[in-house]
Amino acid sequence: MIASHLVGFEPVIGLEVHARLLTDTKIFCGCSTRFGHAPNTSVCPVCLGFPGALPVLNRRAVDFAAKAALALKCTVQEQSIFARKNYFYPDLPKGYQISQYELPLATAGTLEFGAGGGARVVRITRVHMEEDAGKSLHEGFPDSDQKTYLDFNRSGTPLIEIVTEPDLRSAGDAAEAFRKLREILIALGVNDGNMEEGSLRCDANVSVRPEGTTTLGTKTEVKNINSFRFLEKALDYEIARQVAVLDGGGAIVQETRLWDAAARETFSMRSKEDAHDYRYFPEPDLPPVRIARDRIQQIQESIVELPEARRRRVMAAYALSEAEVTALENTELTPLFEETARASGHPRAAFNWVSGEVARKLNELGERFDRQQVSAAALAGLIALVEKATISASIGKSVLEKMYETGRTADDIVAADGLAQIGDEGAIVSSVRAVIAANQDAVAQIRNGKTGTFGFLVGQVMKAMGGKANPTLVNQLLRRELDM
Ligand SMILES: [Zn+2]
Repeated sequence: MIASHLVGFEPVIGLEVHARLLTDTKIFCGCSTRFGHAPNTSVCPVCLGFPGALPVLNRRAVDFAAKAALALKCTVQEQSIFARKNYFYPDLPKGYQISQYELPLATAGTLEFGAGGGARVVRITRVHMEEDAGKSLHEGFPDSDQKTYLDFNRSGTPLIEIVTEPDLRSAGDAAEAFRKLREILIALGVNDGNMEEGSLRCDANVSVRPEGTTTLGTKTEVKNINSFRFLEKALDYEIARQVAVLDGGGAIVQETRLWDAAARETFSMRSKEDAHDYRYFPEPDLPPVRIARDRIQQIQESIVELPEARRRRVMAAYALSEAEVTALENTELTPLFEETARASGHPRAAFNWVSGEVARKLNELGERFDRQQVSAAALAGLIALVEKATISASIGKSVLEKMYETGRTADDIVAADGLAQIGDEGAIVSSVRAVIAANQDAVAQIRNGKTGTFGFLVGQVMKAMGGKANPTLVNQLLRRELDM
């Protein structure tokens, strides 16, 4: 890590995110997009770039791309065009990538991020569609030191590229914005968020400038980042590197730099001198993409409530804290909580049961946890029994355990096992008197002011009554019998 003083400099960061769309087939042919097929088995003349093979646009890829763009509050253009991005690379057999350049699919959106949501905003410049290239395998083979292997299964996989404005001012903000973006894409069902398999990739443009100035400094592009942690580390490194260069009287060279996770530094991949001139021109084999207004409207209406909006709504509707809602979201128990809160009419109790015992059960069973086993209605039944003091909360826990085991309702279990609390004063009084008689030492201690022992006597009465006595009543009657 380069030691430096960041004081006096402001980082300026923009992101370019590539997200693989979850279509079953590729963007311009019918080949499968499934990850993990044997190399070069999901290929055809179109995605291998054979001369004369013609692309046909996958309608579903357009729907997914538009959905992502609309969720990012972009304007989806009724007409956009595909363009050829010309460059040579062994995993790009056509010698060009079909992408969008002028007239992209969607423009001018926003992404809110930050604690509590909505605290900060990064503008989205554009969302466009393109095809992925094949994959060059530089390692993993006995002769990898001499040869590069090529797998074209990925060639022609549909991608969207999401480009932000340079609105981000720290590595932490960049990571947080990317995290929010990933969350949205997953919630929409258009991307699986898998960064290790490369389904979601992030490049960042970084520059620094003296604080208080508005002119953009020379930027570098940091690539090869496949985790949030690396994004933050790579940007922190790059910001400090640029500040050190400027502090030392040097100039930043516009270049592409790669993040080396092992060395924990960025290194130069290519400088501006070798920068590609892609010679974009409109793709002659594809007509302009036209999306009718009503289709855009339909896609807009198909967008589910997004995680951040849901977090904020649930917090307000049920008086939960951000930490409480986050706990529900992390276990994907928000829908069950909401249904239980509505069915029971006791949001706080619903939260306590769902985030407590249900989450514990989920944690215990992991993959084997069946979210349908105990429904919101069944949980509401249990909550009603506890709220009415028919059973105590601790009996309630064992009842819930039985509900998971047997699928029976709380009412059934309580009736069949005789678990209803004993609210009969006469029965409790006789038990209280027996406990007092048998624990004279404890009684003496209480009379000498050691009131902590009182709880012990309550426990003894509860135990004597098989845990079924109404604890409030036990408390009252014990005090009465002890003249407290
Ligand atoms: Zn194909």
